[in-house]
Amino acid sequence: MTRRMLLCGLSALACLGNLPSRAAASAPAVATFSILADLTARIGGPAVSVRSLVPVDGDAHEYQPTPDDLRQVKNAAILVENGLGLEGWMTRLPQAAGFHGVRITAAEKVTPRRMIEDGKDVIDPHAWQDPRNGVLYVRTIADGLMRALPDKAAEIAARAAGFIAEIEETDRWIARQYAAIPQEKRRILTSHDAFGYYGTRYGIALLAVQGISTESEPSASDIATLIAQIKHGKIRAVFVENMTDPRLAKTVARDSGAKLGPAVYSDALSPPDGPAGSYLAMLRHNTTQFAAAMAAN
Ligand SMILES: [Zn+2]
Repeated sequence: MTRRMLLCGLSALACLGNLPSRAAASAPAVATFSILADLTARIGGPAVSVRSLVPVDGDAHEYQPTPDDLRQVKNAAILVENGLGLEGWMTRLPQAAGFHGVRITAAEKVTPRRMIEDGKDVIDPHAWQDPRNGVLYVRTIADGLMRALPDKAAEIAARAAGFIAEIEETDRWIARQYAAIPQEKRRILTSHDAFGYYGTRYGIALLAVQGISTESEPSASDIATLIAQIKHGKIRAVFVENMTDPRLAKTVARDSGAKLGPAVYSDALSPPDGPAGSYLAMLRHNTTQFAAAMAAN
C-alpha cells in the first residue's frame, strides 16, 4: 500500500491535502545526455525527476530526437544542455516542442578549449571531463534549479555543496593516480578527441583517431599519420569510448602494434550497473584504465 492510499484511508482531508504536495514534490527535468542527467539528479534530489534524451552509451554529437522526446521536453519544467556546440540537434528542439520552463546551459561558466581542426577554429565541448569544470557545471545547474524551484532553494544549495566537495575529492584522487607516472609516459590514444580538458588538467598528451566530434571521418592519410605517431610516440594502448564505433580504432591498434584497452567513458555513462554509472564513477574508471596503460608505455 502506498503512503497516499494509507493517508486516504485515515482521513479524506489528509488525502486531499496530500495530492498537491505530491504533484509539486518532483519537477520534471530533461537533460540532453546521461552525464548531465546524473549531475542534475544529484543536485535536485527528490525535488526533480530527471530524464536523459540521449540514452546511456549513446552519442550526444549526433542524435535524432524522437516524438516522445518532444513530449518530454514540452512537459518539462527544466531543460539542461551542455552548450559549447555539442548538441547541434538542440538548436530548434525547445521551440519546436513548445518548451516554457527554465533552460540551463551547464557549460556557461567554463573557459572553452579552442583548437584548430581541418583548418577551422573549433570549440571542444567535452568540458565536463575536467572535474574543476564539473564544479562549475554543478554551480550553474544548481542556480538554474533554484530559479525554477525557489521554495526548494535551500535543499538544492546544500546538495550542490556536498556534491562539489565529492568532485573536489575525486579530482585530488585522480591527480594522486598520475603523480608517480613520469611525464614522458603520460600519453594516451583514444578513438575520438574527447579528453582534451582532462589531459590539460592532469598533464597528459593525447592522440585521437577521430576529431572532437564523431561527425567527421578521418582520411586514410590521417590514419597513416596516426599509426606513425603511435610507433614514434611509443604508445602501447588505444582506448575506445563506449559511444563510438570501435572499428577504426581496432584497425589502428592492429596496424600500429598497440593494444586495444577496455572501454572508457567520455560522452555517455554506462548503465547503472556498469563501470561508469555516474559522473564520479566515470572519472575514476577512466583514470584507472589510463594510468594502467601509461605504466606500460
Ligand atoms: Zn564527444
